[in-house]
Amino acid sequence: MGLILILSALYFIVLESSIISRKAFPIPDPSQQDWNDILLSPQPITIQTYATGIMQTDLSGIMNLKHEKAVTIKDRIVEVPVNASIIQHPVLGTYLIDAGLDASYQNNPYGTTRGILVNKFLGRGSQEPNEDIAAILAIEGITLQGVFLTHLHPDHTAGIVDLPRGIPYVMGRNERYLNFRFLMQGDHLAGIETLYEIDFTNGIELPPFGKCVDVFGDGSFWAIESGGHSKGHVMYFINGVEQQVLVTGDACNDQYQFDTAIGPGDFSNDHDKAQNVLESIILFKELYPEVVLSFGHDL
Ligand SMILES: [Zn+2]
Repeated sequence: MGLILILSALYFIVLESSIISRKAFPIPDPSQQDWNDILLSPQPITIQTYATGIMQTDLSGIMNLKHEKAVTIKDRIVEVPVNASIIQHPVLGTYLIDAGLDASYQNNPYGTTRGILVNKFLGRGSQEPNEDIAAILAIEGITLQGVFLTHLHPDHTAGIVDLPRGIPYVMGRNERYLNFRFLMQGDHLAGIETLYEIDFTNGIELPPFGKCVDVFGDGSFWAIESGGHSKGHVMYFINGVEQQVLVTGDACNDQYQFDTAIGPGDFSNDHDKAQNVLESIILFKELYPEVVLSFGHDL
């Protein structure tokens, strides 16, 4: 009993501020049943990807250096861009995939994140003027209809602090946002009343990936279950007339990871699953070379 009380108190003190109610994202009937048909029916949807700043990380964080192909690769600090993408649907309006970094990175290498563990565990970020997500949206004159997130790691959620609260924020089911009070607290989701979760059990199988969801029901924008790097990680496919683009998030950080086929590293929830997802991306690109890959941390 005493232990339960202590654990409850710890949970409240440390994690309480990360608890937000969650609702199921409404899943339409799919307009297509396989990738060949999807790719033959592109839609007038567009995507533009922006670097919202640069972040330092250990290579071992983003790449599994224990992989047999990584024996000659030494761990080192690398600098990677932190990407966010704007997608524009002709009827439904403009959405983001990931939020990138907020403007606080211009003055603080850790953005809004504070706490006694920040120095030790969080990579330092940097940003040029007008590189932050709010500035990009303002310059482009965009009113956002919602935000789709690949996952809730801080380099993908930081920009939310500068975005409107009253729009839908959508992510994979069971994806966690970790916000440890006093230890590492960014409050990136503060003020959002409800998070919308995509439940892939109601999607369709689209090999070489697992379950997928036709997000708008018109074949223009697909969410792809890709848990591994994080529990509820989601990739997105933009089926545009101009370009057909797979947004990999951190299931594949960059071209180097794609070329080496060495899966995501120590920041990952499940190395084996993350490796399998990377291999499915490589196979997808072999099957459909016309598809453009947009990686989580590359340009
Ligand atoms: Zn990332």
